[in-house]
Amino acid sequence: MEAAENCSVKVAVHIRPLIGDERTQGCKECVSVTSGKPQVQIGTHSFTFDHVYGNGGSPSSSMFEECVAPLVDGLFQGYNATVLAYGQTGSGKTYTMGTAMKDGCQTGLIPQVMNALFKKIETLKHQTEFQLHVSFIEILKEEVRDLLDFEPVSKSASPNGNAVRVAVPGKPPIQIRESSNGVITLAGTTDVAVSTLEEMATCLEQGSINRATGSTNMNNQSSRSHAIFTITLEQMRKIQSVSVVNESLDEDMGEEYLCAKLHLVDLAGSERAKRTGSDGVRLKEGIHINRGLLALGNVISALGDEKKRKEGVHVPYRDSKLTRLLQDSLGGNSKTAMIACISPADINAEESLNTLKYANRAR
Ligand code: ADP
Ligand code: MG
Repeated sequence: MEAAENCSVKVAVHIRPLIGDERTQGCKECVSVTSGKPQVQIGTHSFTFDHVYGNGGSPSSSMFEECVAPLVDGLFQGYNATVLAYGQTGSGKTYTMGTAMKDGCQTGLIPQVMNALFKKIETLKHQTEFQLHVSFIEILKEEVRDLLDFEPVSKSASPNGNAVRVAVPGKPPIQIRESSNGVITLAGTTDVAVSTLEEMATCLEQGSINRATGSTNMNNQSSRSHAIFTITLEQMRKIQSVSVVNESLDEDMGEEYLCAKLHLVDLAGSERAKRTGSDGVRLKEGIHINRGLLALGNVISALGDEKKRKEGVHVPYRDSKLTRLLQDSLGGNSKTAMIACISPADINAEESLNTLKYANRAR
């Protein structure tokens, strides 16, 4: 049995098509997929992953089934899981995750997770009681912000007709806490109980709007922050155990409680901080983003390395808010899928190569 078979981190590459902007600039494609193999070529470099989607690889419609459905199934067995979309700004992370759910668009991974989740609950609800919660946060400059904490302003009062987030003054900062048994919780975030697909979709949509119209209102803020949509599934299952006591049947009704969460992460753009702008503020943000992505790369590569793991090498979860928050859902019994998103355009070749190298470390 190959080591990769039981490895808890699966890595896939998603190559999007050339987009309008790239076409009008006359870009050529510089990424190719080896026919019949999950192998990507760029220049003289060649990388093999668990799966490759787009540009002659598998159709991206199979991405959910192959990379994410097993994680959703794991949730019902009590296993935490994390799906990460990595790549430079414009490479298709948000498109792939479906974080910016528009008009109920069902193409991204998150909407497909929701569908699968509620479908499965429907088939099990006669024997199990379910409780679902969602939270939606972003990490910007090593600070956690709640994307579901908003005051619904009357639609006519907001310029685009959407409810907007109004900062609640005097609210304590959100804190990441770890319980004695290693469970990570976020203190101070909105944890919405949902019972229908529609309610869950509303949280995704509302949080996405809040992310785009954050209080600082910077245009490309979303490219510098990590957005984390978390679904927590609690189950109370009735178990009937029958035993023979003193030659008579003894029926025992027990209950089994399981709780697991799935983090769906639209990571910050992986491009190196551009030293443009005279303010230095941008630079600081770049450094912080790199801290999260750097720590994540180190954590995932430590987890993926069988030899290192056996030697009990330290996994540096504490190096960033991102890895700290994901600590109980990366490694251990949890399952992880990383989707590395790349543009096929020659002008992005350098960043695409960086992304493939980063993803390659995770294997
Ligand atoms: P990111 O979140 O990485 O910055 P986006 O998801 O916003 O990138 O994608 C950038 C642009 O490319 C968007 O206009 C998006 O609609 C388009 N795009 C991304 N992936 C695909 C795809 N697989 N097929 C078609 N268009 C895509
Ligand atoms: Mg995005």
